[in-house]
Amino acid sequence: MSEEDIIIGIDLGTTNSVVAIFRDGKAQVLKNDLDEYLTPSVVVHDKKTESLVTGRIAKDIYALNPNNGAATFKRSMGNDQMYTIGDKKYGSVELSAYILKSLKMQAETALGCDVNRAVITVPAYFDEAQRFATIKAGEIAGFKVERIINEPTAAAIAYGLNKRESESTFLVFDLGGGTFDVCIMELFEGMLEVKSTAGISMLGGEDFTQRLMGFTLQKVSVNFEYAEIKTPESVMLLRKRCEIAKRELSDKDVVKITIPKMGKMKEEQTIEVTKEDSKEIFKPLLDRLYSPCRTAIRGADIEPQELDEVILVGGATRMPMIREFVEKIFTRAPLTNIDPDLAVAEGAAIQAALSADDEAVQDWVVTDVASHSMGVEVSKKIGGQRIAGYFSPIIHRNTTIPTSRTQSYCTISNNQTRMGFDIYEGESRYTKDNRLIGSLDIEGIPRGPEGQESILVTFTYDTNGLLEVEVLIETTKKKFNKIFTHNAKSISEEEIKKAKKRLAELKRNPSEKPIYRDLLARAELLYQELISDQKKQLEYMLDSFESALKSRTPAEIKKAYKDLKDLCDLLDGGLRW
Ligand code: AMP
Repeated sequence: MSEEDIIIGIDLGTTNSVVAIFRDGKAQVLKNDLDEYLTPSVVVHDKKTESLVTGRIAKDIYALNPNNGAATFKRSMGNDQMYTIGDKKYGSVELSAYILKSLKMQAETALGCDVNRAVITVPAYFDEAQRFATIKAGEIAGFKVERIINEPTAAAIAYGLNKRESESTFLVFDLGGGTFDVCIMELFEGMLEVKSTAGISMLGGEDFTQRLMGFTLQKVSVNFEYAEIKTPESVMLLRKRCEIAKRELSDKDVVKITIPKMGKMKEEQTIEVTKEDSKEIFKPLLDRLYSPCRTAIRGADIEPQELDEVILVGGATRMPMIREFVEKIFTRAPLTNIDPDLAVAEGAAIQAALSADDEAVQDWVVTDVASHSMGVEVSKKIGGQRIAGYFSPIIHRNTTIPTSRTQSYCTISNNQTRMGFDIYEGESRYTKDNRLIGSLDIEGIPRGPEGQESILVTFTYDTNGLLEVEVLIETTKKKFNKIFTHNAKSISEEEIKKAKKRLAELKRNPSEKPIYRDLLARAELLYQELISDQKKQLEYMLDSFESALKSRTPAEIKKAYKDLKDLCDLLDGGLRW
């Protein structure tokens, strides 16, 4: 592999980040200069060197003096929250860039060459602005960001779930240091699609450590907040000891924790915590995990028994009580053979190999979903009055991407010759609550009565986050076209040209896809051989499939495809017999 071909996979985590590469036919995680796989996503100002420091050293400094650093800033990716470090203010993009830069150096040391290209993972619920903020951070760090992929998609790829032969449904249960995410994915025709996501952005392994600390301090009658202000060093030491004890409780029935002297304590004190105690201590946290699991299951419109696999991601899923919890609510033992801290980075590395066209991964196919709905502003006639400001989605949230969808609109006044389309993303019915992406104005509409002219608006959206909007005046066949991206990234003319070429592929009618074309041909042949009721039945299914293809709605196409294919299989069998 030449230097230019190297693309690394990066799991840019809320608490820890990991970097991996696809080498010798498999994903390999790279160690940092402390010989560790996990690099804490923390940035502090080091007074001695007057520079910013990241990683484990930064984490230790931050624990003692949180005012001089920043952690968990991934949570404010895409918004303008600022963090003060030393005498300067930094945004989450800049801080993430520091982390990415240190991972870049880590990869370069491990591989002994320059590394300039990366695939970076983000939570499935990140919106476009957050994804572009991540791309921007990558670019500041000196990377060409080849692709942004969803963390659960990466985990599923690491487990090879996208290579399964049959249609399957998976759940990714991700309990990291500071966040909890559940994601349900479906594999259909070799494509991996996110069906639903849910989570709690402020719940993770650190909360388990925190509760254990609270329990120990209660035993020695010390007030937590008071101790944090008065004796931060002792609290930091206790946190370290509780972190170790929490991990030990994964294997042992009883652990000892020595509480450093603080508050009114005369000397340090050692207490014992049993596995039984820990069940009580952690129960309130386990209870909070239920609700997102239920939301994800409902969002995917399935029963837990329909899940084919459950994958565990995030260090905190090593706790046996979490594994028992998962097994109980999803009625199956989770897959655990990949280190839960490393699975996302490994999947990103496999995706990186895919981007580099590595021959070893030629048979992998991955898709993503739109994290937010995208559409145009329309007005509605309510009680004889026209009211503007309504959102009309064209690409719906959770639609598999890349995709191309068309919606028809009409003129709203007599002899209207111009029309302006304001393009938004979001989930609200009202555009004022959504995010404006841009505008496209058209002119030359033939004069006529209100509602007569049909204007077709096609949104074509790819996995790189580029949206092409095409507006067609149906009678004159005149087309208007514009490519939109998001604030954090500006694209050059050259890139726009390339994108247009790529997007043109997507605009092709789905009926041109070989699997759909083959099924149509097969059904039409079969139709000629059949008689009476069977013929009618097949005609009905064929019509439904054709109208689903016309609608370009993936869920409709999928259902109609399956119905028609099942019927063809049945009728084919009957004919042979
Ligand atoms: P992540 O953000 O995925 O790296 O998750 C790190 C979290 O996993 C931290 O809160 C750790 O305390 C937790 N963790 C790692 N290993 C274990 C273990 N063996 N038992 C319990 N928690 C663990």
